[in-house]
Amino acid sequence: MTRIYTPATRLDDDLWLLDLNFQGEPGVIASYLITGPQGHTLIETGPGSTLNALEHAVSAAGARLEDVTQLVVTHIHLDHAGAAGALLRRVPEARLLVHPVGAPHMIDPSRLIRSATRIYGDRMDVLWGAFEPCPAERVTLLADGQIVTCGWRTLRALHTPGHAWHHIAFHDASGDLLFTGDVGGVRIPGAHIVRPPTPPPDIDVEAWHASIDRMLALAPKHLLMTHFGRFDDPERHLGELRRRLDEWTEWVRQRLELGDDADAIAQSLRERNDADVVRDTSDATLAVAYELATPSRMTVDGLARYVTKRYPRP
Ligand SMILES: [Zn+2]
Repeated sequence: MTRIYTPATRLDDDLWLLDLNFQGEPGVIASYLITGPQGHTLIETGPGSTLNALEHAVSAAGARLEDVTQLVVTHIHLDHAGAAGALLRRVPEARLLVHPVGAPHMIDPSRLIRSATRIYGDRMDVLWGAFEPCPAERVTLLADGQIVTCGWRTLRALHTPGHAWHHIAFHDASGDLLFTGDVGGVRIPGAHIVRPPTPPPDIDVEAWHASIDRMLALAPKHLLMTHFGRFDDPERHLGELRRRLDEWTEWVRQRLELGDDADAIAQSLRERNDADVVRDTSDATLAVAYELATPSRMTVDGLARYVTKRYPRP
């Protein structure tokens, strides 16, 4: 099966799924465009490296980047918010909306860039591109319960920690939509498998459970995921996310107890994942997209950090 790159897919009159074609792979990183007469909203900006793809996708949706007035991000990780600073520079009318705990790192991203560089080294630029600072006066803080008006829609911010402490999901009650960011997991179009993205440093399994409960309680009809796209089986999807999060946490805990190192654990996780994808879809190429959206080594590092904190060795 060939995976086809479609820059913009219309989900509703005023709502578009944009594919940022991350590293030349379709269906890995999404942004959502909500159009409105007073200006458009982007939910997630993607990383700096996909800024051109974002602009291309916005125009494929029949809109102009210049008419974007709000950049809403679920959290500040590079694949979700990396392009925000560059976009604010390009579009002087736009503002960034972000959780108060994430905001300082958008205004001064030096710590964020330093820790990402420690992880990605010389692949930093190819993967993520530039992360420009956001001017403080153009950042709006978005706490739990706050309403964001986007054209005809209103989104309610849901503080949903677990993947990142400052993570927000967005609920659109009128459309039964939930923009999940990463707290809703990773699922590639064409597959059923839902993986928990668990990079360091914030993974908190208990908080993640509470966030899943909170999302389920809203009984949305559709999940709009950053990795990737719309899925219409929220209950099964979030149930599987919860189950796999627990299963992987326990598995990493056991492997660490046996004395295995992160490389070895990540290697077996990758093999397991690839086999799961082939079983689910008989399409090995989807495994590449899963690995790009949530690399095995990150998954193991984040869970190892959580497990070590949660179950200290005597
Ligand atoms: Zn992500």
